[in-house]
Amino acid sequence: MTGSPGSRVLLSGPDLGEAEIRAAVAALEAGEVGSFGAQPPRFEAALAARTGFAHVAAVASGTAAMHLALKLAGVRAGDAVIAPTFTFIGGVAPIAQLGAVPIFVDCEADSFGLAPEAVEAAFALARREGLTVRAVAPADLFGRCTDLTGILAIARAHGATVVADSAEALGATRDGRHAGLQADLAVYSFNANKIITAVGGGAVASGDPALIERARRLANQGRTPGGVEYEHEEPGFNYRLPALLAAIGAAQMDGLDARIARRRRIHDLYRARLGVLDGVRFDDEAPGERATRWLTVMQLSPGGGRPGPRALIDVLAARGIEARPVWKPMHRQRAFAGGLHVGGETADRLHATSLCLPSGSRLTDADIDRVCEAVTAALTA
Ligand SMILES: *Cc1c(COP(=O)(O)O)cnc(C)c1O
Repeated sequence: MTGSPGSRVLLSGPDLGEAEIRAAVAALEAGEVGSFGAQPPRFEAALAARTGFAHVAAVASGTAAMHLALKLAGVRAGDAVIAPTFTFIGGVAPIAQLGAVPIFVDCEADSFGLAPEAVEAAFALARREGLTVRAVAPADLFGRCTDLTGILAIARAHGATVVADSAEALGATRDGRHAGLQADLAVYSFNANKIITAVGGGAVASGDPALIERARRLANQGRTPGGVEYEHEEPGFNYRLPALLAAIGAAQMDGLDARIARRRRIHDLYRARLGVLDGVRFDDEAPGERATRWLTVMQLSPGGGRPGPRALIDVLAARGIEARPVWKPMHRQRAFAGGLHVGGETADRLHATSLCLPSGSRLTDADIDRVCEAVTAALTA
């Protein structure tokens, strides 16, 4: 356990215990470490039960899952994909890997999700540019769960597939519906900093069995399953999730609710202690939403002589506390210089005013006290 004054308070460290160690040892002893054995299907079944998707394929990473999902959506070289500018690059780099063109659109201030009117404007921009939009790829950020109803209607009207990047939102729900479930395909991540981890890993999910069957085949070098011969209908990727990691992921799934409860509790502690300070605010859940609070985002209104997010991150780092900026908008990245975007002011404002506070489920109340004291001292000096 952390909590001693000298220890570092991490942003979102992995929360691994006896159950994961036992699962890993059992997989090693059984020699089930490669792609086969009982663990990958067990992990996938747990993910299907949790998300409500009938079909789930566990793969090597969330980014790999997004690459596969976009390919399954029919995205090809020269197509356009509408994507958030406010997100982590793993959800959008695969657009470029497929030779397609991202059109970045702004987010909504209160949910961090794609703004529907900006999505509509992006379809108009694509038409002017002579591009066909094959997919819309909204993201659920920081454990929030966005309502995709509006985006889905717009995408349907234009014949585009919706691929939800729910990498940060495993366990989040809205009106009892799991993050990503409204979409044609959804993607989750089990990177070491996510709410549960398989040490690394991801999943692609859909209600359509044919799509997930193809995802499995593509993840396994495009190899036709069943026979002994090396038959390949199409070139694929090596995106399999090793069974050793699936065993750890499956063990983590058993503790997902406890991890969500802890992160929500940490968020509430920050809100109670820091939300009372001048110029500090936290994003509110929408009616019917149950966020996981994977990362707590603190927004600072500029002025009042208070330090901004960058300065505050440095102050906290000097005290052994790891805070981070929120995602730098994609339309500001050199990787996408000269690319297409619609708006981006809200993403820019969030980037200029916000930071992520330590949120990992291993953090103790004493750790959170330390963070709150340091933030309060810095903001009220
Ligand atoms: C983590 C993350 C990904 C990528 O997941 P990896 O497993 O790290 O490849 C994609 N999109 C978002 C929004 C993420 O936070």
